Amino acid sequence: MLQQPRPAAPEAGAPLLSLAGVGKRFGNQVTALDGLDMEVRRGEFLSLLGPSGCGKSTALRLIAGLAEPSSGRIAFNGERAGKPSAAHKPSATHRTAATHPSVGFVFQEPTLMPWASVFGNVHLPLKLAGIGRREAEPAIMEALEMVGLDGFRDAYPRELSGGMKMRVSIARALVTKPRLLLMDEPFAALDEITRFKLNNDLLQVWRQLNCTIVFVTHSVFESVYLSTRILVFRARPGRVAAELAIDPALERDEAFRTSPEYAALCRRTSTALAAAMNAG
Ligand code: ADP
Repeated sequence: MLQQPRPAAPEAGAPLLSLAGVGKRFGNQVTALDGLDMEVRRGEFLSLLGPSGCGKSTALRLIAGLAEPSSGRIAFNGERAGKPSAAHKPSATHRTAATHPSVGFVFQEPTLMPWASVFGNVHLPLKLAGIGRREAEPAIMEALEMVGLDGFRDAYPRELSGGMKMRVSIARALVTKPRLLLMDEPFAALDEITRFKLNNDLLQVWRQLNCTIVFVTHSVFESVYLSTRILVFRARPGRVAAELAIDPALERDEAFRTSPEYAALCRRTSTALAAAMNAG
């Protein structure tokens, strides 16, 4: 796919959302997050990087409204967030668009309905919002085109490869045209070649939709390739230990993957990650 450099994300104005002093303690006494401060800026591709178990997914689920923080606050557009909603819904019905952006969520597993076609799976969020097949068709086909699966509308999940299933899962998240796309290690289970291809296609979608992405990963290489900013988490209880900015104007393509510049950025990020792990 064509890789055009993207203009820098706008820095001006309030962040899309911010977390201040957020903590999350589970019933089993595990404190996943403690004093998490971070903001998500409009139009950025933000990665949350850290080893397994440091609270990245928990942070993402709190942002999505799938769980409530035990302490601290999460504010959308500067407004205090209300009670959250399910991420697969097109937007929080009990919040106005001004206070909560429409959110799409992509899980590590594609979580497709095996009995429904690709078309039916992507229809789901709109169906939940009361939009029938015929009315939803243009949006569904547009989402499938964006992930390169418009020729597979009538296929069933069992007929698809792992990469294609993930594409359907991404199309399902995109069908509502979310302003904020939350992705929880979506490519971790895929082989490297498929992952590289999906990395490129995801960047294309990000540019095309002009949306904001928060992407959870434990891969230094993936975070550097995709992001305009990386937040490095320290070991549990999680909070941000370091922040790295990556020039949004850098063209992300195969030449970049093998460039000294990419290697240097990966080294810097690895060093920050190692320091965060040792900080305890
Ligand atoms: P990461 O995404 O960085 O791998 P998680 O956010 O999934 O980390 O988990 C952080 C910690 O919180 C882990 O120790 C995990 O076992 C624990 N945890 C996550 N979800 C729950 C839950 N629903 N109940 C109890 N403990 C949980």
